[in-house]
Amino acid sequence: MQSIKSKTINTDADYPVKTYQHIFFDLDHTLWDYDRNVTESLSELYEHYQLKAIGIESFEKFFESFHHVNFQLWDWYNVGKIDKDNLRKERFPRIFSHAGGKPEAIPVEFEEDFMQRTSSKPHVFPYSKEILHYLKGKYKIHVITNGFNESQAKKMKSSGLDGFFELIVTSETTGHKKPDPRIFQFALDQLKTEAEHCLMIGDNPDSDILGAQRANIDQVFFNPEGKSIDLQPTYTIAHLRELEDLL
Ligand SMILES: [Mg+2]
Repeated sequence: MQSIKSKTINTDADYPVKTYQHIFFDLDHTLWDYDRNVTESLSELYEHYQLKAIGIESFEKFFESFHHVNFQLWDWYNVGKIDKDNLRKERFPRIFSHAGGKPEAIPVEFEEDFMQRTSSKPHVFPYSKEILHYLKGKYKIHVITNGFNESQAKKMKSSGLDGFFELIVTSETTGHKKPDPRIFQFALDQLKTEAEHCLMIGDNPDSDILGAQRANIDQVFFNPEGKSIDLQPTYTIAHLRELEDLL
């Protein structure tokens, strides 16, 4: 076992044993394989709309531009500098410009087609469904996501992740985004529970780990790439299977 745990599970009688009842999962990059699903749909779009003919010389250029622009816009969205409608409206014009294409050449349905294709993709992280089956017998499991209602629901259905979760909390529903502790408090209120009975599992230190810490909820940092971060999560795992050792 290669996991690096900043705190081991409590078996010491001198230390109160945590009684988790509710497990909160992040969705994108934690269960749903965002990178693989997005790469597939971008590749299809590049061919379908023949983007080479409108100035985007290669798929690699399109792909690199997507990541550059999309992450910038999501960073802005996460700190409230841009709203959902403008993120969607501005995304592909900026990507086309960045990739050397003409923004005015974008087919009008491009953004919608991207959203539809991507949220229809089935790929999840290794052991996602196995760990959800495992946990479902022992805990109540839920999702807390900064994504949008419609796309997150569709992603879960297309990938077979629906049916595991009792509560699905989105930033769109609550009006608060992780790491704002109010999105976690919303979940606690809905479940009529306390922070000490909950555990948050997610890949993003700035939203999942910091947010749960602000809400006094223990955290599992899902870190398959072994990134180093400044925060001290309660637990760190590199593979979802490791949750069986913790829970
Ligand atoms: Mg995530």
